[in-house]
Amino acid sequence: MAQMSKERMIKYEVRGIKLGKFKKLLFGTAVTLLATSSIFTISKIQDTDAAIISVKIIGYSMVDSGKHLDWGHDTAYVSSVRAGAKTWNAYKSGVIREDTATTIQDVWIYDYYQRNNYPGTTTYGSSNTIAFNSYHMDGYNSTKKQHVATHELGHALGLDENLTGDIMDPVANTNVSLTFNDKASYDAAYQKY
Ligand SMILES: [Zn+2]
Repeated sequence: MAQMSKERMIKYEVRGIKLGKFKKLLFGTAVTLLATSSIFTISKIQDTDAAIISVKIIGYSMVDSGKHLDWGHDTAYVSSVRAGAKTWNAYKSGVIREDTATTIQDVWIYDYYQRNNYPGTTTYGSSNTIAFNSYHMDGYNSTKKQHVATHELGHALGLDENLTGDIMDPVANTNVSLTFNDKASYDAAYQKY
């Protein structure tokens, strides 16, 4: 019985974590416990962890056949967009590129002002767009602006809305780092490019 409760405890802890560094920390803890109790196996812990990762993709993206998302803009929030692009590119390098004279634009980024619920909107169409609503954005601090920009770029990459705290959380928050869910969803979207 004592062994059972240890197993339950580890499962609970793995469910509770989101960030990569904590995963490694807890995984280290699990391996330590493995040495003292024969009931644990590493594969069992990985299975438990994999089952709780939420992968959400749209099924299409704005990424071109060269596996690039080239963006052009007329936005006041360009520093937020650049920061967001850097975050995604740190996970898969070279996909998101700022438009140059020699690239064909995959998404146009611009601003508008309207009293609605949306700080950012990504629209697939004959011309793909990301639109920032200054009604909201101008009241946000730089971190929240960066979250919104990173989130909308995520839609352009083919990711769908995901869970609270993720970059792909549909509610603007102050997280600017990719979570397990964001990375796993990007992995799945990337396979369709
Ligand atoms: Zn969204």
